[in-house]
Parts: sequence; structure tokens; C-alpha cells
Amino acid sequence: MAKKILVIEDEKDIQELLQLYLKREGYDVQIARDGATGLRKACKERYDLVLLDLLLPQMDGLEICRSLRSRPETSYIPIIMITAKAEESDRIVGLEMGADDYITKPFSPREVLARVKAILRRLEKPKAKEVRQEYGGIALDHSRHEVTYKGKSYSLTSKEFKLLEFFLGNKGRVLSRDILLNEIWGYDYFGTTRTVDVHVAHLRHKFHVLSKSLVSIKGLGYKLQEEPVKT
Ligand code: CA
Repeated sequence: MAKKILVIEDEKDIQELLQLYLKREGYDVQIARDGATGLRKACKERYDLVLLDLLLPQMDGLEICRSLRSRPETSYIPIIMITAKAEESDRIVGLEMGADDYITKPFSPREVLARVKAILRRLEKPKAKEVRQEYGGIALDHSRHEVTYKGKSYSLTSKEFKLLEFFLGNKGRVLSRDILLNEIWGYDYFGTTRTVDVHVAHLRHKFHVLSKSLVSIKGLGYKLQEEPVKT
């Protein structure tokens, strides 16, 4: 089935250009001309990726990005931000808000396609099927339910294990507290998001590499850096 891409962009030329190239590659492309419409569409239908313009009327791209990331039904959608601003600060803000990648105008359609493909390919990799995951000295064995760190065996509670497993399977992605609560504790859990913070603190305490690599994203949640940060 064709992958569905939502383009949130107010400039007609760019809409048409993106639509043309993405459709030619076999993607199912839908356009939203302003932020509110884009957000509504993203919540109603399931998309595989969102191309999001930073400068939009009414609601800007950062606000939309934050909003998509904070809702359980949309927080998984990969987002590529498009902006006319080339400043590094915008890039960083965008990535902190949870965008997966960033493209600066003027861009070549080929560049956009390459980024889109790269992200979709990354997400297609089987996650839970891997028997063993490694990260900065941590080795997690799913079948045996065992964790070692720098060769030493650690005992984790089942929630800690699941949480660590989930972070390792979603490297580089911002995961909101709500998402983590739902994934690890389940929808019928009545605890608060504070539970997540406490468990994250436990993991950071047990595995030193996580103290810098598992970062807090203000107002949103947590992200495990794609590559372990040296401590
Ligand atoms: Ca614009």
C-alpha cells in the first residue's frame, strides 16, 4: 500500500512541486494549506510522514510539531520541517520540538525525496524482532529478559525493562510521557506521568551512559540520542 504523506505548506508553488515529485514516487500525498487544517487532518487519518513548513499563517510549524508530538494518536508520525530560515537556532529548536529532520528552502525535490525515503526506511526496520539490542555498553537480551552493562548483569523490574526496551527501539525519537505511560503501563493505568519520571531516573542511575544520552525534552518527554553520548 502507498505510504501516505501529509504536506502542510501555504505556498502554492511548493505544494505543487512536492506533490508532483512525491506522487511520481508512488506516495499518496495530501495537502493542508494552513496549520489548523493540517493538525486536524493528521489527527483524523493515519499518515506515514508529515512535511511541515515552519512559517504558516495562524499556527506556525513549531506549534504544530509540538502538538503532533504531544498527542498519543500522532506522536509517532515522522516530521520533516521545511523552512526558509537557514539559521542554526531554528534547526535546533525544530529538532528539540521533535522534528525528525530538517530541510531548508530553496531545496531540490530530489533532496526532499532522499530524506523522505531515508526516514521511512529507518522506520521499517523491524524493532521488537531483534533478539539483542546494544547501546553504549548496555546489552539487552529480549528472549532471556536479561540486561548487562559493561559486562555486568543487572536486574530490572519488568517496567524498567520494558521502558529501556522501548527507548532502545525508538532511538532519536521524542517520546512524550503520555506515550510512555500508555506503552509501558497501558491505557487503563491510573498513575500519573510522574511515574515515568521516576522510572527514567532509575534507569539513568543504573546505567551511567543514559545520564547524558537519555535527554529530557522540556514540556514533552524524553529522547534517547541516536548515538550514545560519551560520559
Ligand atoms: Ca510558508
